[in-house]
Amino acid sequence: MKRVGVLALQGDFERHLAVLAALGRPGVEVRTPADLGRVGALIIPGGESTTLLKFFDADRWWGPLAGFARTRPVMGTCAGAILMASEVTHPPQPSLGLLPMTVERNAYGRQLDSFETDLKDHALGGGPLPAVFIRAPKILKAGEGVEVLARHRGRTVMARMGRHLALTFHPELTGDDRVHRYFLEVAANP
Ligand code: GLN
Repeated sequence: MKRVGVLALQGDFERHLAVLAALGRPGVEVRTPADLGRVGALIIPGGESTTLLKFFDADRWWGPLAGFARTRPVMGTCAGAILMASEVTHPPQPSLGLLPMTVERNAYGRQLDSFETDLKDHALGGGPLPAVFIRAPKILKAGEGVEVLARHRGRTVMARMGRHLALTFHPELTGDDRVHRYFLEVAANP
């Protein structure tokens, strides 16, 4: 399989590349739409979705990303998940619509702005899964065909539809590589 690309415009892309390298599967920085042609799967990291949207408009990412996602796997974390949703609220903003789900930005309020927790309700196996939430969104509703892979307090925080994965937390900050290994499996058998 071609290497996994990490969208390297803004946000936490370096830590994702570090996790992939530690797994013996070094990734590739994707900095221009043309770079998508060199990778077999893509990670859209957390960061600030509004900033990423400015890049998407300025450098004409929309068509190439939509085309890429039609046949290849994409994993979005936090801001990346916001960009993958079909509907964004608080406030509304454009998104790629790779999974039928509605996402509310900055949904945990000030006191819980950022927190770390161990997810017990998840499908990856191997016991509690550490997760870091940073100004995280909430998945308010998910449509038909969306598989829930992890929940926090009953609410979906990791979802899959076919070859696409969306999670509202940062898996690259915990030292636990299960989410990345899961995505590599998805990418190997999309
Ligand atoms: N609050 C950010 C946004 O709405 C996402 C935060 C993150 O990616 N950690 O884009």
